[in-house]
Amino acid sequence: MSKVHNFSAGPCILPPEVLKEASEAVKSWGNNGLSLIEMSHRSKPFVAVMEETRSLTKELLNLPDRFEILYLQGGASLGFLTSAYNLIPEGGSAAYVDTGAWANKAVKEAKHLGDIEVVASAKERGYVSIPKINTVDSKHSYLHYTTNNTIYGTQFKKPPTSAGVPLVADMSSDIMSKEFDSSAFQLIYAGAQKNMGPAGTVMYAIDKNVLGKTGRDIPAYLDLGVHISKDSMFNTPPVFSIFTTLLTLKWLKAKGGVAGIEKINNAKAELIYNEIDRNPLFRGHAEESCRSTMNATFMFNDPRHTDAFDAVWAAEGISGIKGHRSVGGYRASMYNALPIESVQVLVDVMKDFERKI
Ligand SMILES: *Cc1c(COP(=O)(O)O)cnc(C)c1O
Repeated sequence: MSKVHNFSAGPCILPPEVLKEASEAVKSWGNNGLSLIEMSHRSKPFVAVMEETRSLTKELLNLPDRFEILYLQGGASLGFLTSAYNLIPEGGSAAYVDTGAWANKAVKEAKHLGDIEVVASAKERGYVSIPKINTVDSKHSYLHYTTNNTIYGTQFKKPPTSAGVPLVADMSSDIMSKEFDSSAFQLIYAGAQKNMGPAGTVMYAIDKNVLGKTGRDIPAYLDLGVHISKDSMFNTPPVFSIFTTLLTLKWLKAKGGVAGIEKINNAKAELIYNEIDRNPLFRGHAEESCRSTMNATFMFNDPRHTDAFDAVWAAEGISGIKGHRSVGGYRASMYNALPIESVQVLVDVMKDFERKI
């Protein structure tokens, strides 16, 4: 089989060694002849997987002791609701940053639970940039933001600590891709399928000291305190997804952890953006200072080249670079497991196309 260069925006590319080990575990795992997905989640070996996944997540994210890690279901989409449920008191409010489609969905869900004020928005600029965050009213329980905007290819370079209230973030599409200062955070959540593993589980990193203070009667599955008290095993966890996430986290640790992969991610981003800026056929979509290291969005200055170019990259084994339908053009998603060699192949195709046109 020829090599596929998988630039998919999500579910993401995973390291080949992870796919191999995960597929073997589906056939038979451990020494009792059972498949990973047909044994009890309360069995000793799986409980150990859950524990290691939680502790390795905390280690790789360099989070202090006040954080508890959970791996639950419902994706980041349920996280929009869960975060508000656990952190906005009865009759309370929260501040949100509008950086696009996912951020808007977070606002919509949070409105079920409190007064939501959108304190900064990139909407007028077509979401090509990250808005400036000023100090927000201290009545708000937290400021919620989306660290990386998968669709538009924009990214916060640093947490917006200038807000002056605790931070809550949807880190779905850049979790584990770069180091960050966690000191202002109360809650971080991220669907696994963009940078950590297969779909089916969502990671929560929650400051345990802030739970239980809303005065709300929270339904059990939505209550992060319940999940902590059950060691992330309140109900049957998505075992395959969590196991494969653990394999990916171990792979990441062997690569030098988040600091190690950040260097590679920066090199990949530099490679593609340099070509987008150099090549007269293309232009970048996101404003330069807000460009994402995970999702590079770009388009032709003259869209008439599209069909010819699409045939060329597909022939080179490149997959998944079509832009999101709301943006158009191209989007090269360069999650942790995408090798820099794949980015080089795309850059060479762009250079080649310019030469031959
Ligand atoms: C993909 C994505 C989501 C949706 O995650 P689900 O796990 O499918 O619910 C949410 N937020 C961001 C930033 C995303 O990129």
